Amino acid sequence: MIAAPILLLVGAAALWQVSKSRTFQFFGLIFPRVNTPEKVVALTFDDGPTPNATSEILKVLDEMKVKATFFVIGAELERNMSEGRKIVAAGHELGNHSYSHVRMLLVTPGFVQQEIEQTDRLIRETGYSGEINFRPPFGKKLLALPFYLSKNGRKTIMWDVEPDSNPEVARDATKIIEVTRSQVRPGSIILLHAMYPSRQGSLKAVGGMIESLRREGYRFVTISELLQAAAD
Ligand SMILES: [Zn+2]
Repeated sequence: MIAAPILLLVGAAALWQVSKSRTFQFFGLIFPRVNTPEKVVALTFDDGPTPNATSEILKVLDEMKVKATFFVIGAELERNMSEGRKIVAAGHELGNHSYSHVRMLLVTPGFVQQEIEQTDRLIRETGYSGEINFRPPFGKKLLALPFYLSKNGRKTIMWDVEPDSNPEVARDATKIIEVTRSQVRPGSIILLHAMYPSRQGSLKAVGGMIESLRREGYRFVTISELLQAAAD
């Protein structure tokens, strides 16, 4: 009778794979990128908003005339509402990255609802009126989260290019730019973490990354625009 424990192990391993998959979830729509022949990409920033980094990111995006998407954490937005308002006033898109940024794996439907709705309310308080997409903290999701999003017609936005997730690359802006250039393709969603002091490499990479992709003929759009481009 060793079959049962083995089956349990296999089942658990399969669920673990699903929980971190960028392309599959049990309910609703999930996008690691979109299918389009057009050279469009979406630049997305996770976490925050934090006071210093937000201003710096906005300055570069303004200089480069790029609109990006910021997946903000509700609890941080609540502390830094003025930063959220600046992002929206500059014409960027806000996404929901949960309220408390915990791994939403074995969570209850009530917890999921609270995490999402509380953050949505804060996002609306910034004056943002567009569609609010959701990105799971740590990219993790299993049952309750995708079920709630799907039931409410919400989309799960992942990514297909994450240059600063590799610590060796993350320290060096030049490497971040190079990895991004080599991995991006039409319809890509680029994930950057530039909101914290430990993320100087990413912050410094933003301008150069935009320049290098533009040289390759890419145009930058928000997540909503990217989804629209794929639907057209
Ligand atoms: Zn995050």
